[in-house]
Amino acid sequence: MNSGGYSAVVRTAVAGTLLVLGFAVVSCSGDAPDDEAKGKVTVVYEDDAIKPKNRQVVEVIRKSRVLEQSADWVNTSLALPHDLTVKVTDKVPPGVEDAVTQPDGRTIYVPPEFLTQVQGIATDVARNVERPAVFPQDRYNADDLTALSTRFIFGHELGHALQRQLMLANIGMEEDAADGFASFSTVNQAGPAPSLAAALVFDQLARKQGKITLEGLSSDHPVAQARVFNFLCHLEGSDPEKYEGPLVATGYLPKSRAPLCPQAWAMLDHGWWTQLRPHFTSAFKDQGDKEQQDARARLIAETKAFAEQLDAYRSGQGAHTPPAPRSP
Ligand SMILES: [Zn+2]
Repeated sequence: MNSGGYSAVVRTAVAGTLLVLGFAVVSCSGDAPDDEAKGKVTVVYEDDAIKPKNRQVVEVIRKSRVLEQSADWVNTSLALPHDLTVKVTDKVPPGVEDAVTQPDGRTIYVPPEFLTQVQGIATDVARNVERPAVFPQDRYNADDLTALSTRFIFGHELGHALQRQLMLANIGMEEDAADGFASFSTVNQAGPAPSLAAALVFDQLARKQGKITLEGLSSDHPVAQARVFNFLCHLEGSDPEKYEGPLVATGYLPKSRAPLCPQAWAMLDHGWWTQLRPHFTSAFKDQGDKEQQDARARLIAETKAFAEQLDAYRSGQGAHTPPAPRSP
């Protein structure tokens, strides 16, 4: 999505003021503040507003339940201050062509027209791109590639929605953080397939886009090809023992980038668990706290391991050496 720029900053500031005022009123009434926010994520298929030519791909997505699975994780794990409605509809605000999140984080549009475009690229990949050995053969078809890459793309939009609703402190580009949540959430919840499918689809998209333009370079999103390597880097870094062979030795992820990835993943994983921690539901709190503590231990171990191989990496001889096993 494109960020709303200055106007979004103003709206966010106003919303923050209202939250503070609302809390003051509750405190004055003498009632205990409600510490469990009640916002829920709901996926709505607006069947009457889906054009006939896009109905087939909507059925693929509906049957795959990728949107519902991602929504369920948020509902189980996080206490949102507001409802979040995910609208699968061709009835979108003016100029909306892709999946987008509204500036208040309370609506995500997933236009079927956009899903049809994703399906077109996924079909091209399934037909014309040799399957990477790491990608499961029985899922290397247009429908599964469409559903899996949609799960990743939806993860990106959920990242925007969480940043906006929870007013997360952002110390980098919002679009990078949204891609980060797509990797964090899909790798942890669904394994490698969504990252791999998204990498294949974005790679094909970048080839179709051709030469990088001024608009592409100045976009608030990194260029598509850079995003492909970010998706692969975070996946590889999540389990280098498993993915170094299939992703790095094969050349999908360059050897110049790969040594940075275990620490990059550890930083991302720790970053999201830490940012989300104050917002865990009471049912998820114990598990979530444990995830955050494990992620912190992993970040410390990976940073130490990286420091030990830094001279070799800077001299161009870097190779990932796994850190010593963590103590329980
Ligand atoms: Zn975005």
